[in-house]
Amino acid sequence: MGEVVPVGRFAPSPTGRMHLGNIFTAVLSWLSVKSRGGRWILRIEDLDPQRSRREWAERMEEDLRWLGLDWDEGGLQGIGMSAPCMQSLRGDIYEQYFKRLTATGNAYSCRCTRADLMAVNAPHQSDGRLIYPGTCRPPTIPSAEPLSRGCAVRLYVPDEDICYTDAVFGAQRVNLSQECGDFILRRADGAWSYQLAVVVDDALMGVNEVVRGCDLLLSAAQQIYISRLLDLREQSYMHLPLVSNRSGQRLSKRDSSLSMEALRIRFTPEELLGRVGWMAGLLASPRPVTLSHLLERYAPGRIVGREKIIVDFM
Ligand code: GLU
Repeated sequence: MGEVVPVGRFAPSPTGRMHLGNIFTAVLSWLSVKSRGGRWILRIEDLDPQRSRREWAERMEEDLRWLGLDWDEGGLQGIGMSAPCMQSLRGDIYEQYFKRLTATGNAYSCRCTRADLMAVNAPHQSDGRLIYPGTCRPPTIPSAEPLSRGCAVRLYVPDEDICYTDAVFGAQRVNLSQECGDFILRRADGAWSYQLAVVVDDALMGVNEVVRGCDLLLSAAQQIYISRLLDLREQSYMHLPLVSNRSGQRLSKRDSSLSMEALRIRFTPEELLGRVGWMAGLLASPRPVTLSHLLERYAPGRIVGREKIIVDFM
């Protein structure tokens, strides 16, 4: 059998200007595949029509180019792709996989609103996540039930552990029924869930390595479960510490001080790459470097599996 070419992806949501946390993920995902001669895909995750804007996707591409991070496939032009690389244009593909998933049972219609769920269930403290209490869940494992229109559709999850190894955080064991409960595949307004879209896209785009923030460690287990049901390729995972500001809060697209707008005024691409390399443990000090220098020094084992990296250089 031939050697598997590493294929990674960066999958930002175009809901605002990128910040240092997005760049940290982009650089490390790029280094990880490029250090092994692989390919890197840029996928625009614009599933949420209310929050996503094409202008933000254009800015993202421009910010990536400014840093020298070139993608081999995807982006707004869909370079090298047989189908569009923007999730908003891939609804027909998600529909096919949704039908495959629901034709074998495993899913049911749910009428609960967020307010209903809040009334019976305190959100998980650290991330505001709600564990679905099973209000609409049928008493036995659903077999292909007719799904009502205008309702959300949930995936039935069994009371079993999903195990996988993360390249940074090590062995993971997640019981989905305890950590999130049955989760949504299609929202009541017809929007596809992030979990379904990511699994389908990663598999169809030939991705085999997912690098992203550790806020998505639980999502990896949800995505592995969907891949198994659909008999799609499972990914290898590398989750990264979340980049946080001085007060320890995770960066969001609303924080302006570490946004690409501010970073590009303050630093050259080499200065910013030096800071990213230093945050990843690849450099002893945050001195300016080129991307090819980082590529020479790249070693995944230098990234420590902690929850956050506090940045205080602004
Ligand atoms: N679109 C997600 C985000 O911007 C990333 C999802 C992923 O990498 O799987 O946070």
